[in-house]
Amino acid sequence: MFNTLSDRLTSVLQNLRGKGRLSEADIDATAREIRVALLEADVALPVVRTFIAKVKERAKGSEVSQALNPAQQVVKIVNEELVGILGGETRRLNLAKNPPTVIMLAGLQGAGKTTLAGKLAKWLRGQGHTPMLVACDLQRPNAVTQLQVVGERAGVPVFAPEPGNGVGDPVDVARRGIDEAKRAQHDVVLVDTAGRLGVDEEMMRQAIDIRAAVQPDEVLFVVDAMIGQDAVNTATAFRDGVGFTGVVLTKLDGDARGGAALSVREVTGQPILFASNGEKLEDFDVFHPDRMASRILG
Ligand code: GDP
Repeated sequence: MFNTLSDRLTSVLQNLRGKGRLSEADIDATAREIRVALLEADVALPVVRTFIAKVKERAKGSEVSQALNPAQQVVKIVNEELVGILGGETRRLNLAKNPPTVIMLAGLQGAGKTTLAGKLAKWLRGQGHTPMLVACDLQRPNAVTQLQVVGERAGVPVFAPEPGNGVGDPVDVARRGIDEAKRAQHDVVLVDTAGRLGVDEEMMRQAIDIRAAVQPDEVLFVVDAMIGQDAVNTATAFRDGVGFTGVVLTKLDGDARGGAALSVREVTGQPILFASNGEKLEDFDVFHPDRMASRILG
């Protein structure tokens, strides 16, 4: 997803190679080119502004290292600032002291929540947990069946409302799901919620009600990295509406520009916990800001 950005940044930074000293003009020109590369990759403007200001300030400042030449020094600064935007340290999942840990998944329809529920469940199993899924997306006709399929693939049970009882109340399903998890001694419960095609009040209301009812240890906002600047807008709307404790980026395997997704952490102030890069259950990993920054810088 970040190939173009990566190529651009690498070539900008390569132009500095071989320079014995960097003048202010060199740094300004480099900063300008980095700015254009980030904006063209769809990184949100306020994020780009802060980033560029910091890089310039540090590159012009007194960070003199004997070990690094000026070009290497700028690369180091850009890398560190990129890691900063992406959240710095890897943020681990917050597990409850008294199980079950409740994790609620929220986001727009099509963001990849249901798929993520399976991925996360499989990953959690690999970490020695005994997760259970709860189907609270009663909006989309096939969502419950889809979650059951995903659960089966991941080898984890799915709590779903009994068929034939009308649409049902997602808050009630969430509550009963957690009771069932306690009874059957599952240590993590993943609650899949309904999304809409766009941010709408009813969806937000429902997510707020589920959150209030189940008091999750984590609310993960799932966002499709392919939707460009809307990723930032949607994230802000969810932060102000439901609120969330972490972000999951999905569809990082796509060829869209994706920089907006890289802005979500900085814009919302919440960390990115996981990244999803394909349709298969194993196309998923913990998000490491430093590894992502290194990947982008080539
Ligand atoms: P939900 O509406 O949020 O539950 O979204 P789904 O889990 O149903 O996903 C919507 C579509 O995106 C499905 O076709 C998934 O297979 C696909 N999808 C989910 N995650 C990824 C991903 O990381 N990469 C790609 N390429 N497709 C994905």
